[in-house]
Amino acid sequence: MKPDQPSVLPNWTDGDYHDYFGTTEMLNNFNEKYPDLVKVFSIGKSVLGKNIWCIRVTNEKNNTIKSSCLIDGCIHGSEWEGGEACLYLSEYLLINFDANKTITHILNSSEVYIIPLENPDGRQKDDRFNDNGIDLNRNFDVDFGRIRGGAIPLGKLFGRIKIPRIPFNGARNFTLLYKLFPSFPLWVTNCGRYPFSEPESQAMRDFMRELAKNDFSFYVNCHTATHSINVPWYDIVKPPFTMTEQETNLFHYVLNWVGKNTEYEPVSVLTDKGKRYYDSGTVFDWVFKEFRIPSFCFEILSTDYEPLFGEGKHDNLVHWMQTTLPFFMYLLVNIDNLRLWRTPDIQPLLPEGMPPEPLQ
Ligand SMILES: [Zn+2]
Repeated sequence: MKPDQPSVLPNWTDGDYHDYFGTTEMLNNFNEKYPDLVKVFSIGKSVLGKNIWCIRVTNEKNNTIKSSCLIDGCIHGSEWEGGEACLYLSEYLLINFDANKTITHILNSSEVYIIPLENPDGRQKDDRFNDNGIDLNRNFDVDFGRIRGGAIPLGKLFGRIKIPRIPFNGARNFTLLYKLFPSFPLWVTNCGRYPFSEPESQAMRDFMRELAKNDFSFYVNCHTATHSINVPWYDIVKPPFTMTEQETNLFHYVLNWVGKNTEYEPVSVLTDKGKRYYDSGTVFDWVFKEFRIPSFCFEILSTDYEPLFGEGKHDNLVHWMQTTLPFFMYLLVNIDNLRLWRTPDIQPLLPEGMPPEPLQ
């Protein structure tokens, strides 16, 4: 290995977003350029037959037993930056391998699985839902289908007819309504007829069950835009079990770290009692329930960008990507602590100027 060097940032330009085709191209370029670090594969297909791409980033020449983790985005197709953050992190790891000690160690000792677009059909249409009109992040088997939990089960009422989307013309057109009834738009989210009714959520479930056969250590589900990092059971009505003290302590240790080291708001049941909203069937709650590993919902950007049902605002891409690095790197350097529910007290070394100053 070369002498240690400070890590460098990917050379991205504002406005350079990656849709399904751009994402496919970028992942294939990574594979070509870093054949010993990258494997690209599909975990399944969307309703319209697009591949749900996954990239595994690890030093393939090192065959020791490794911990694995999963970071994914764009389960809501209109929340582009969740997917972009996945691509940015992939590139950041790849360009710093073998130069920066921390990142070299991460890729020698862990397998970082990254799925940039969980809802490729939705991403192409800038639509929150999949092509059956289902909110994939309400389609998982945890506290499923509650009306108060943000999911009127239209699928259950009408059978398998296709409900493309509830016809609101973008979040900004009902800003007043949203201000008066903050949870109104969330009530009409369609969870599907039954848990895992959709090909995308089935593919995610099956892929994660494979990961869990080995050392699946933590999970991050990336969204936009409530400017927060959430932990289970922040958003569900009826948690399937009570967290242990050790689990509670770890989550609050992480949230405390988030509050001190990022611009994002750390959110849990305890910190956010007053303005809680309810979701049901979310993937990050399901991962904690199913695998009992640390699981997070990362809401990138700020509420000014909230896309809700599409047509969200997109700008300052590079800034927002940089804001995600501290949290991702903090989790990655603590991967073994997280897997064992030990205090994640390792501080990541970040490039100079990270995190960036918050936008004015
Ligand atoms: Zn979302």
